[in-house]
Amino acid sequence: MTRKTALITGATGQDGAYLAKLLLGKGYRVVCAMRRTSGIGTWRLQYLQVLDDVEFVSMELTEDSNVRAVLETVRPDEIYNLAAQSFVGDSFSQPLYTTQVTAVGALRLLEGVRTVIPTARFYQASTSEMFGKAQQVPQTEKTPFYPRSPYGVAKLFAHWSVVNYREAYGLHCCSGILFNHESPLRGAEFLPRKVTLGMAKYALRGEGPLRVGNLEARRDWGHANDYVDAMWRMLQTDAGMDFVVATGRTHTVRDFIALAAKACGISLDWLGTGLEERALDRASGKTVVSIDPAFYRPAEVDLLIGDPSLADRVLGWRPTVQLEDLVAEMVDVDMRRVASNHVSGV
Ligand code: NDP
Repeated sequence: MTRKTALITGATGQDGAYLAKLLLGKGYRVVCAMRRTSGIGTWRLQYLQVLDDVEFVSMELTEDSNVRAVLETVRPDEIYNLAAQSFVGDSFSQPLYTTQVTAVGALRLLEGVRTVIPTARFYQASTSEMFGKAQQVPQTEKTPFYPRSPYGVAKLFAHWSVVNYREAYGLHCCSGILFNHESPLRGAEFLPRKVTLGMAKYALRGEGPLRVGNLEARRDWGHANDYVDAMWRMLQTDAGMDFVVATGRTHTVRDFIALAAKACGISLDWLGTGLEERALDRASGKTVVSIDPAFYRPAEVDLLIGDPSLADRVLGWRPTVQLEDLVAEMVDVDMRRVASNHVSGV
């Protein structure tokens, strides 16, 4: 049997690295599309020890001719579109750029698939942020969308483009509506990694306090390594479909912080209310966590919890990592990074 070729956009990101490793393990030829100007580089692929086993192609999602040329050259069997301006916070200050990359970039790729290589299967990285001000709990594939950020709006455009290209042109394309997923490879600008890194810095160097926004926001957090497996399974189905990928459990930001502190051996006491609230280290009395209004979103997403039963039924997919174990793994890796003065990607 000939070896399948997978093209991963956003391959320098968290999910791209885990997905590259998964696909290599399945015998794929893996081509990683990377911006020539990537500020992040390849440290994640290196961390997972797959850097020497993948091929690279230069691709900028905002350039039509570049996207088409990549498809013509690589001729992938499967395309995983993970590239995006993926940070919700920045999407408020850079809404047009976010739309260019995250919304129009996905459409550009779909047009490329339609005109250059229509037999290729296409995966789109959709997001629970499309549910935003959630209209139903838990959220399923049928829950109405109500995005609350330029990022969510851009992802929703890409999501509906996938549905449209499937129905209009018969392309095999799927959207994975993925709820938050983390790992030691998560970017340090995202809250969960900011928390595990901040706790490690406090525990080992006494640095702090960690400044955060809304403690009561609830999220459904899983492990990125589980979630890339769901992406692959979606492209193995006979017809393209969309799936919610989630754990079905929800926790507050406050819970996440408490778990990270516990994994560092720190007991927290919460004092005060509202913007004055803070968490003290019970042993030293020092402030470990404080509230900074700068980290509140202009429009908040209060509660996300996904129902992954369709993915279970059709794909045989289930999450394998509980939040407690995910946080413990992230803290463990960040403690070692801080101890060795080697904080990757920051
Ligand atoms: P990351 O932020 O870690 O990675 C994003 C990737 O997109 C990076 O490789 C980045 O490259 C690339 N990229 C950004 N802009 C462009 C551009 N203009 N042209 C080409 N590539 C570009 O995200 P994750 O790995 O966490 O997530 C993967 C995808 O899944 C994203 O689309 C994200 O929005 C989505 N998603 C993530 C969730 C999560 O909880 N992690 C939840 C739901 C959806 P560079 O190195 O050059 O910056």
